[in-house]
Amino acid sequence: MEKITSNDIRFADLNEKRFNKRFTGKPEYFCLPESTSDVVAAVQEAVNTQKRIVVRSGGYCLEGFVSDPSVQVLIDMSLMKSISYDAKRSAFEVEAGATVGETYRRLFLGWGVVLPSGQHPNIGIGGHVLGGAFGFLCREYGLAADHLHAIELVAVDSSGKAHSVIATREENDPNRELWWAHTGGGGGNFGIVTRYWFRSAGTDGANPATALPKAPKTITTFRVSWDWNNFDEKLFSQLVQNFGAWAQKNSSPESPYKQLFSLLFLNHRNMGKLEMKGVSTAGPTAIQLIDEHLASIAGPLGLSYTRQVEETAWLQFALNPFPELFQPGYDKVKAKIKDAFLRRPFTDDQITTAYKYLTNNEPVGGGLGMATYGGRVNAIMPEATASVQRDCILDIACNTGWGEPEGEAASLSWVRNFYQDLFAASGGVPVPNEQTGGCMINHPDTDLTDPQWNRSGIPCQILYYRDNYPRLQQVKQKWDPNNVFHHALSISL
Ligand SMILES: Cc1cc2nc3c(=O)[nH]c(=O)nc-3n(C[C@H](O)[C@H](O)[C@H](O)COP(=O)(O)OP(=O)(O)OC[C@H]3O[C@@H](n4cnc5c(N)ncnc54)[C@H](O)[C@@H]3O)c2cc1C
Repeated sequence: MEKITSNDIRFADLNEKRFNKRFTGKPEYFCLPESTSDVVAAVQEAVNTQKRIVVRSGGYCLEGFVSDPSVQVLIDMSLMKSISYDAKRSAFEVEAGATVGETYRRLFLGWGVVLPSGQHPNIGIGGHVLGGAFGFLCREYGLAADHLHAIELVAVDSSGKAHSVIATREENDPNRELWWAHTGGGGGNFGIVTRYWFRSAGTDGANPATALPKAPKTITTFRVSWDWNNFDEKLFSQLVQNFGAWAQKNSSPESPYKQLFSLLFLNHRNMGKLEMKGVSTAGPTAIQLIDEHLASIAGPLGLSYTRQVEETAWLQFALNPFPELFQPGYDKVKAKIKDAFLRRPFTDDQITTAYKYLTNNEPVGGGLGMATYGGRVNAIMPEATASVQRDCILDIACNTGWGEPEGEAASLSWVRNFYQDLFAASGGVPVPNEQTGGCMINHPDTDLTDPQWNRSGIPCQILYYRDNYPRLQQVKQKWDPNNVFHHALSISL
């Protein structure tokens, strides 16, 4: 396998590929495999020479698991990105280097189907699906991992030999636990996924047009925006309460609103606006669902607001959703995201905390984002996949971003203290309890390993995996007994 070292013209470009510019690394070399046997060879060589190896697919990791100074060999999956229907397995085969956008495009144009997955088209399928993967369609069709039929993994056995293995959802597959671990266990834990096969549970996949959910013909988007200056604490509280109450009422798998997904952007006041954005796939009744949603959240505030509703063809939307969220330059940003699942709406105390941090005089960019969750996601049992959170109504995140190094200290301090105060009643983190449901591994946060920020005494892995953690550890023990694949939040032996 060719080694791309720093005197190769491709090196600098490969070393720049990452979303979060907060982290940097400089591996001794990159490998760009084109086949599973290339991956096996690259892993074997790194193991033989005792070099620290890490895999990258899309580069959209929010923490520095890939861009880390200790990484010596970086296997970049960009060249393995084919997407096809595999008649032998009666499932769609997607190589790990494909992006979410390429997967949307190929599945739609080829067969009119969709893999419900994340909100940004440049995310890599490789590191995305095995973290669960929620998105605009999750309330209607579940997580991407809920449609995972099989994986091919390059792993390293106890003798240090690299090898490839296929694991499927089939009940009689001796490797079924390995498949299970890839339905939410998170990236960089067991080995390198080279390809995924997708087919919805309950279908035999023989007809590709019904092997995955049918893509929506159109998607209706909505955008609402308020001037922050029109809000006092009482109105702000009402907005957050209304959003939470709506989510609590409408997050069961049977909800008539499962074809509606909504985001509330509680931006810091120095950003000028509070916003909602969302989508409905309900076709002719989409506008009615959106209007009812807004009537229960925005209506009672009695404030004027701008409301923009548009119908777009599915693929056009999927390849460029809400372009204003990703303006040129967004990929130069250094960011910190701190995520939490909610099983119940925010309490009054939490809303008071949010108001305090969103209106203080800190020179920060960012806010508190709230995304509706549940629907079909909540139709699956917590142990059926490794994505354990199956009774949550919202996924929320305190987030901040900065461009210049001078912004870092104030931004990090603001977002960390905000999150810690938000969950002050449970040690500064959303421990699994009546109200909170832990955290999402696709939005990793290394602060959870730091007793300064996680005072709950509950290890980060329990926040991510709850009761599924011991089972994930057994899979780790079996398939990566030498802990070749690891990072700051990885599953421990
Ligand atoms: C702008 C933005 C929007 C996002 N939106 C969503 C969203 O809507 N829904 C959601 O669920 N998540 C979302 N995410 C999070 C995203 O799903 C995760 O960061 C995911 O891990 C990215 O995968 P990647 O391949 O692009 O990342 P990478 O940086 O390549 O990898 C991330 C992690 O996975 C590991 N990994 C990568 N490839 C493989 C592989 N082939 N085999 C095994 N491990 C691998 C890496 O080693 C690393 O630990 C978003 C992130 C960003 C930055």
